[in-house]
Amino acid sequence: MKQGFVMAVAMGWAVAGMAQEGTKLEYGSSQTYTQTLVVEAGGDVSVPTIAPVYDGHSWALSTRWDDSNPNALNIRRKMLENGIRGSFYLNSRTPEKPAGSLAQKLTGADECSVGGHSSTHPHLEQLPANTAFRELMANRIALECLTDRPVNSLAFPFGGYQSKDNPEALHGITEAVLRTGYSHCVYSGFVTRNRFLPAGVISTGWQVVPGDRKIEAEKFWASIERVRANEADSRKMSDCIFLGVHPWQQGEELERLGEVMAKLRDWDDFWHCTQTEWAAYAKQRRGTTVTAAAPGSYTLVRPAAYDLGNAIPLTLVFASADVRSAKVDGVDCPIRHADGKTYVNVPQAAQAGVPAKIDETDLEGCCGEFPGLNAKLAFDPATRMLTFTLANTGGALSDGLLTVSLPPACDPGMLRWQRPALANGETWTATTAAPLIREGEYWQGGTPYFAAQLDFVRDGQRGRLFATCTGPAPAPAQPAN
Ligand SMILES: [Zn+2]
Repeated sequence: MKQGFVMAVAMGWAVAGMAQEGTKLEYGSSQTYTQTLVVEAGGDVSVPTIAPVYDGHSWALSTRWDDSNPNALNIRRKMLENGIRGSFYLNSRTPEKPAGSLAQKLTGADECSVGGHSSTHPHLEQLPANTAFRELMANRIALECLTDRPVNSLAFPFGGYQSKDNPEALHGITEAVLRTGYSHCVYSGFVTRNRFLPAGVISTGWQVVPGDRKIEAEKFWASIERVRANEADSRKMSDCIFLGVHPWQQGEELERLGEVMAKLRDWDDFWHCTQTEWAAYAKQRRGTTVTAAAPGSYTLVRPAAYDLGNAIPLTLVFASADVRSAKVDGVDCPIRHADGKTYVNVPQAAQAGVPAKIDETDLEGCCGEFPGLNAKLAFDPATRMLTFTLANTGGALSDGLLTVSLPPACDPGMLRWQRPALANGETWTATTAAPLIREGEYWQGGTPYFAAQLDFVRDGQRGRLFATCTGPAPAPAQPAN
């Protein structure tokens, strides 16, 4: 606490009324921290590599079911009976209370998770960029608030992300996806054939379809076999295979789906996971570095779980079976020996975990989950300045990290601010300009939408608070004189 205060004074943040400026957040980057891994081994061991799949499994196996359909609960039951896990991609048309919501029921105790599918299920490629961004961002906020879990993966409504009639749509939707903070998309074409997407920022998987209404088992097994038969090529795109697309199967077809799932359970060396877990694993696999510090001691620089969207441990592979035990910053790591190697699952540090509570402020800046915190986001169209204000009357807050997403016509798309500590009674202001760099009806039509995400720790618990605002709707086009 004291250290945080000294830092704040040194950086000038304690100066009354002074607004802090943010820095551009590169797409796909995340907040990293350092851990020290110490292993006890029978002999010399070399620097471990990162396993492509958690726990050294051969493939990740997940499922993807779209739309807010109550039959999803039956699919979920059938999945769990057969050891299968996965994610439900939901809309958020009308405001809901978390308790009793479909999103919360489908999440359960994290056997499954939810992903974004836009607020109202429109054809995103037919909308102005501002509206497409709002559809994705507001949906992610709503789902996170309903489940108190981060949402890091996306399925486009109608699978739509480009259009012959609107060649700018792919660019605009890509910007919208990146600014929403997604790191995974079930549409592999969006990821692999998209010149607007920076390489390696969004993960995907191999979709295999058992049949939305009628189960076609033979076709299903042939398509999953194709992914495995072309293993080297398949893995270039993803080590994740997933079932989809709609949770429509009922009665006899639901039973037949259950039979496919029962066979899948041990069909290969699968990590049965949600797409949220896979997305987080894939991102930390890309974003972690491991270096030797001393004999038997390694330094990990890895993305924080709250930025990955899930606290799935990272699996390190030692080339020998001589490793007897491993500790990260004094915490025991589970280890496993197989094929003459040692697999070490390194947990995230407790302070870098995922938020336990997530909420969004109302027009007054208040919310139910975090009494004493008042957060507002405001955009001034005259100066094009965006201002985030946080007033804290609810006890000391630490580890503040503010992420702001701007409309697709603006650059930068995302900015970040660090606020190590905010004492009780203190107010913090962060500002940024929102310069327009893209012209024309597609980019500037629709109402601009701005979103702020504040991650923080209070009372020893990690929380996340969203505040949003809109800019003015564009004036209707003037008829020519
Ligand atoms: Zn849909």
